[in-house]
Amino acid sequence: MRKKIIIANWKMNHDFYETTSFIRNLLKFIFERKIYHKKKIIISPSFPFLHISNQIIQGTTLNIAAQNIHYMDNGSYTGEVSASMLKSIGIQKIILGHSERKKYFIETNDILFKKIQKGLQYNFDIIFCIGETLIERETKKHFLIIKKQLEETIFKFSLKYIHHFIIAYEPIWAIGTGNTAYPEEIKKMHEYIRFLFKKKYGENISNNISILYGGSINDINAKNIFSINNVDGGLIGNASLKIEKFLTIIQS
Ligand code: PEP
Repeated sequence: MRKKIIIANWKMNHDFYETTSFIRNLLKFIFERKIYHKKKIIISPSFPFLHISNQIIQGTTLNIAAQNIHYMDNGSYTGEVSASMLKSIGIQKIILGHSERKKYFIETNDILFKKIQKGLQYNFDIIFCIGETLIERETKKHFLIIKKQLEETIFKFSLKYIHHFIIAYEPIWAIGTGNTAYPEEIKKMHEYIRFLFKKKYGENISNNISILYGGSINDINAKNIFSINNVDGGLIGNASLKIEKFLTIIQS
């Protein structure tokens, strides 16, 4: 049985006080409601607050993830953060391939391949985002695009690494727009992604890999989305910034 996974991607939001008080309140809630057996919850704050966030969650079931790494170990890359730096403060999970990184920082599949390679070298668990643009969907290229994104990145790695991955299917046109994909569209794509993993790595891997949906999940639609076949949880942006909304999503 795959456990449901809920990931809060805070992007470039929340200062020191907002980050720490949110995480403390969330822990209180998780403890009071005893929801620690049922779900895996991962929070992804900004780089400056990863260390303190990771200290706060020690000894709890909450997890922290970074939003990016560079593919080099160190060097003259002003403003960048390396895998080894994150490891040195105890971070074990990273998000890679988010569509905003692709859009604003021109992260191609080739760059993502190198980032995955570096992440695996440092034994990170990787939340890997894939998704198509609106034009790609409208021209019915969405299945092809998803296949290409996987073939040029994760599928270049051997079976022994696959337990490190969580897949987040995020149609780009649904991120931050308030337009979620229709349940039937989500169902078909999640089925397809699982099928691709089966074809590449076999039934066991395909049954065990977690495939999350992301794109305008909120406190109202979460329950519906999480009940779709093959949806193992969600990657949540906007609605994860307000604790009341995020708590409702967790309870969905
Ligand atoms: C995201 O950034 O991954 C995301 C899904 O954002 P939102 O929930 O705001 O659409």
